[in-house]
Amino acid sequence: MKIKITKTTTPGTMPSEDQLGFGKVFTDHMFIMDYEAGKGWYDPRIVPFGRISLHPASTVLHYGAEIFEGLKAYRREDGGVQLFRPMENIKRMNNSAERMSLPAIDEQDMLEILETFVKTEEKWVPRSFGTSLYLRPFTFGNDESLGVHAVKSATFMLIASPSGSYYAEGINPVKIMIESEDVRTVRGGTGYAKCGGNYAASTRAGEKAMKKGYSQVLWLDGVERKYIEEVGAMNVMFKIGGEIVTPKLTGSILPGITRKSCIEVLKSKGYTVSERLLSLDELVEAMKSGTLEEAWGCGTAAVVSPIGQLAVGEDEYEINDGKIGAVTQELYDVLTGIQWGKIEDPFGWVYKL
Ligand SMILES: *Cc1c(COP(=O)(O)O)cnc(C)c1O
Repeated sequence: MKIKITKTTTPGTMPSEDQLGFGKVFTDHMFIMDYEAGKGWYDPRIVPFGRISLHPASTVLHYGAEIFEGLKAYRREDGGVQLFRPMENIKRMNNSAERMSLPAIDEQDMLEILETFVKTEEKWVPRSFGTSLYLRPFTFGNDESLGVHAVKSATFMLIASPSGSYYAEGINPVKIMIESEDVRTVRGGTGYAKCGGNYAASTRAGEKAMKKGYSQVLWLDGVERKYIEEVGAMNVMFKIGGEIVTPKLTGSILPGITRKSCIEVLKSKGYTVSERLLSLDELVEAMKSGTLEEAWGCGTAAVVSPIGQLAVGEDEYEINDGKIGAVTQELYDVLTGIQWGKIEDPFGWVYKL
């Protein structure tokens, strides 16, 4: 793939690393390429970061044809930069594309795009542990017509944002409430795809939870409203006695790469991990009898996020005295250790640039 690079004449400067936050500052450039049915992807280019112009009838603005990914570039202590399991994001993006009738991108081309772009923006990869350059690839339907059908034109872009440490103030367990009205998705729907529409439909519940003093909601399945699915926009895991349980991928759950990595780390350390249905009733029983030892969300942004309190209707249950548990801490240490290159990677997950 021949990527044309046009450098900015007004390069920016990196803010102080303890003031980065998440997704607010963007790098000097962005990657764009266009797609037409019959022609395929064309004109791959890196250009100065800036606004884009869309036709007011552009498909994405009306029918929500949009998918995205989220991954990070990490700075190792030796100064080098690496990605974490990028091929997993690439394959998932193509699965999302298939679900939303958007065009897929050749895996090797996508890897080359990520690599070329991160190398161009290298100075924007922050240096302190916990900070990273967040990468956001996305594809959207861009037909200039209001007809409803699989798109004939699309645009792929990649933007990047230097991001601060998620746990700048230490790892504090969060308060979560069960969501009993809204559901995130249903089986047969788009739950397994990383598409913007899922987020649009789930922010209401999150906002409602915040007003009540919780950080996020625990989603139940959309069919029976009985089984645990995810927490906010993260996958979820529980330690119940000697078993670590995470909801199995039924189609309405996003197949997280952090989830997959947690399962593989836990199994390598001899833990019993079950991917199975977990009902809210079973969880409440475990909280009442004291066998629920730990609960945590997992995703690229936070790595792991311990749950210290869970509200089921009017009842509030404290988990592990509101403190981070030993397994959650171990997962955090191993995954961040591998990602930031502090410990050896026995799994072959890091991709050095
Ligand atoms: C992205 C995402 C996750 C986490 O996936 P990772 O690959 O671990 O970052 C979980 N749930 C939802 C709904 C997501 O969009």
